[in-house]
Amino acid sequence: MEGDELPEPVCETFQIQDFYQPRMVSEGFRFYHLEVEVEFVYLLPDLASRFAAQGIIHTSKREKRAFLINAGALLHDPRAKHVVRDVLGEMGVSSDGDHEFMVEKILSHAIAMASDERNRDLKVLPMGVSISCVDPHNDEEWWLMVEGLEKVVISGKPTDCAICTGEIGVGSKGARMPCSHVYHGDCIVDWLEDSTECPSCMAKLP
Ligand SMILES: [Zn+2]
Ligand SMILES: [Zn+2]
Repeated sequence: MEGDELPEPVCETFQIQDFYQPRMVSEGFRFYHLEVEVEFVYLLPDLASRFAAQGIIHTSKREKRAFLINAGALLHDPRAKHVVRDVLGEMGVSSDGDHEFMVEKILSHAIAMASDERNRDLKVLPMGVSISCVDPHNDEEWWLMVEGLEKVVISGKPTDCAICTGEIGVGSKGARMPCSHVYHGDCIVDWLEDSTECPSCMAKLP
């Protein structure tokens, strides 16, 4: 892994332009439409990168979700930090340690938006949050599981990858699960992010 530093977590906050303001039924309440997009980055250690197509070091997946939050909960509630931590937690981002600055940044942007004169008449404050951070699966135990997969070179006739439904051609590499099902290396690594079962036969990985 020499030369590969873990990337610093990033958190950008902004006001979403072109947001359609819904007619609010409940008069008097103000809300945040908090749209959070997270890009998870992980490092492929040497042994695991042998499954990647060709020398890929970082790979990532994106998640995007919107939360409707009562403005009072972010502006006045003493639990405001917990509200933001819960949002991060639901997105799979831990809010402790390295990520605590995100909580501060999101809250201070929320305050700035609420007090911006141009937003005076908005019932819904459309706020975007864009995060990039290291995948929580970037841990040793998970990599040992991924490393445990057998690398195979397809011979005889091509086989289909049940995850992407694409073909694994003769001569190209695949990753074989202990149950003997074969997938593209990249496909099964992505799959194992969320599951420890073979997508074809549901056999559990040890
Ligand atoms: Zn595939
Ligand atoms: Zn299987």
